[in-house]
Amino acid sequence: MRLRNIPRAEAVIADSALVVHNPKEQRGSWQKLFGNTNPVHIEVGMGKGQFLTQLAAMHPEINYVGIERYTSVLLRAVEKLEKQEEKPENLLFICMDARELQEVFGEGEVEKIYLNFSDPWPKERHADRRLTSGKFLKRYEQILAPDGMVEFKTDNRGLFDFSMKETGPAGWMLKQFTYDLHGDEQLSQGNVMTEYEEKFSAKGNPICKMIIAPGA
Ligand code: SAM
Repeated sequence: MRLRNIPRAEAVIADSALVVHNPKEQRGSWQKLFGNTNPVHIEVGMGKGQFLTQLAAMHPEINYVGIERYTSVLLRAVEKLEKQEEKPENLLFICMDARELQEVFGEGEVEKIYLNFSDPWPKERHADRRLTSGKFLKRYEQILAPDGMVEFKTDNRGLFDFSMKETGPAGWMLKQFTYDLHGDEQLSQGNVMTEYEEKFSAKGNPICKMIIAPGA
């Protein structure tokens, strides 16, 4: 998702207390920043933030951090929450490229990583940019807690199949998966829809989901 450049985005984001402006300085101290010892869950490529905003309201016992690369996209999430009278205390955003995750989160600092409808990067020469590529799995492994995991949803079957193939060689295990999340009684329990999930499932596209974790 790349929105047109929105001139006010930089200023709105710079002014917002919902956005962490010095994320690398928080490395190893995210719980301290939230003021508690609750687990930290992150979404990489959160887009306009619907998924994490809903999760944060449902789970005050979890600290959520949403990561989005583009200010023009993050702006939507920030503006929506800034309008709310009560801001969630367990949700923060970062504008950054996920390639720098290890500089922002310490070893074992994150218990769960959500990847939702990640960009497919269909050209083979861009495969390393896919957020489920072996290169990214290595980055996630550095910041995940020992029992940490990645939950990935997409309607893109090609990307899903690629992601499955990446797990073994990267030393990750496939814990659970489905090619039809909304028809899966177990995995659909408590499912929170993302913006893309609403859009693509309304078109009739089945939604795939996998839960993966480091370790053979
Ligand atoms: N997760 C949302 C959803 O399901 O509705 C948005 C999906 S959108 C297709 C993918 C988002 O991931 C875009 O907003 C894009 O800017 C962001 N993104 C892609 N690569 C990224 C990266 N390396 N670091 C941070 N954000 C990234």
